[in-house]
Amino acid sequence: MNSKYEAVIGLEVHVQLLTDTKTFCGCPNKFGNDPNTNVCPVCMGHPGVLPVLNKKVVEFAILLGLATNCKINEKSIFARKNYFYPDLPKGWQTSQFELPICEHGYLDVTKADGTTKRLGITRIHMEEDAGKLIHDQGPSSLVDLNRCGTPLLEIVSEPDMRDAEDAYSYLTQLKQIVTYLGVCDGNMEEGSLRCDANVSIRLKGETELGTKTEVKNMNSFKNVQKAIDVEIERQIDIVEDDGKIVQQTLLWDADLNEVKPMRSKEESHDYRYFPEPDLMPVVVDEKWKAQIADTMPELPIARKNRFIDEYNLPVQDAELLTSERELADYYETILHDTKDYKSASNWVMGDILKEINERKISPVDFPVSPANIAKLINLINDGTISSKIAKEIFPDMLEGDKDPKKIVETKGLVQISDTSLLEEVIGNIIDNNPAQVKQYLEGKDKVIGFFVGQVMKETKGKANPGVVNKMLKEKLDELK
Ligand code: ADP
Ligand code: MG
Ligand code: ZN
Repeated sequence: MNSKYEAVIGLEVHVQLLTDTKTFCGCPNKFGNDPNTNVCPVCMGHPGVLPVLNKKVVEFAILLGLATNCKINEKSIFARKNYFYPDLPKGWQTSQFELPICEHGYLDVTKADGTTKRLGITRIHMEEDAGKLIHDQGPSSLVDLNRCGTPLLEIVSEPDMRDAEDAYSYLTQLKQIVTYLGVCDGNMEEGSLRCDANVSIRLKGETELGTKTEVKNMNSFKNVQKAIDVEIERQIDIVEDDGKIVQQTLLWDADLNEVKPMRSKEESHDYRYFPEPDLMPVVVDEKWKAQIADTMPELPIARKNRFIDEYNLPVQDAELLTSERELADYYETILHDTKDYKSASNWVMGDILKEINERKISPVDFPVSPANIAKLINLINDGTISSKIAKEIFPDMLEGDKDPKKIVETKGLVQISDTSLLEEVIGNIIDNNPAQVKQYLEGKDKVIGFFVGQVMKETKGKANPGVVNKMLKEKLDELK
């Protein structure tokens, strides 16, 4: 990036709420059903119907507002955002405009260099989604209204981000928070979390904001990052060529790695917002707010810090383990049965996460129970098996959550720590490898690794490496 300029970025994030029913009617809030089956006169926008606000939507909004350090407005109102589109039979989207439910929040994100940066949240408001147009089923387009009235929260950030990395960190943390709270599944590929990026540039040192564009249609965090970088470069090129930035909405094309103009940007007055006459103001009193605050789970940053303090884990471990609530839960359940925090972390971050990612499953559906992972760790720590054997029996455990102790017993894999059993093996290996013995006696201590390897091979990995090491040294030193 040309160092004369700095970028200014603000994000508008929509999250689809995991409520059972829609925002203003009792229709199921479900996806994947046949088109136009989860509908009623209210969400189809028939004349004369009256909306009834889903209490759960307000509770989710308050919960997210509290989790993102927002002020919860005691009174907020719904507004009609009027526009015409075939997927919006009512002719307006019920949203919030002048008085949203949450305002003035922030997220603290950690930069790559370890410093913290505070990124402001302007507002969070409640709104409903529109339906869907289907264009690939013949010559004309079809309308599916199942999604009409699906509850959304829109989280609008301050223009506080200065590069794509800021935007990525903000999004990552926001996704963690909504999934920890259970208000949204956070799946960007499937569209339950959507992000539009507002981008402008200005000369460094300038305090006024430049003209912004809004980039839409990114379906992954990586694409948000890429789209922002591409848009910053595009704007710099224009300004460097003495051109002017045109305020407009752009669509990200992930295949071509470029942005394309979609429409000139509408202004808010184009929507003729006005207070929704069919809904009462939403009033949140202190008591209700406190009740909701009581249900607040431990949030990702707090949990990460606790993992560092309580379990003495390195920052990277704590970060990865708490990146998903279910993964952190899995890890902590292992600790019910073992106090070896670091080994448990290693197993989760290594073999377990590898399986979870390969199988594309949630930690909740991981086939081995945390209790059996704890047993495995304890078998290593009490000397029953070597870590090598542990790695070998792990695939067996994957088949139906088998007790590692039973596997070890049935397969006869108990570690050999008995010196009298190892004596003969070690003696033979020393006799059969005079060249390596000579090297050792000439001071090449490292060759001890070769002997350990031979013993492990001979005992099929069952020898206790600590015991073998000690015995080998004694035997070889006797030859000096
Ligand atoms: P609009 O009415 O065009 O939607 P808003 O004022 O609601 O604009 O802001 C939308 C988003 O754009 C917010 O996240 C805000 O922080 C961001 N934003 C506003 N002005 C700029 C700018 N000049 N450059 C980058 N982002 C901006
Ligand atoms: Mg806006
Ligand atoms: Zn309905």
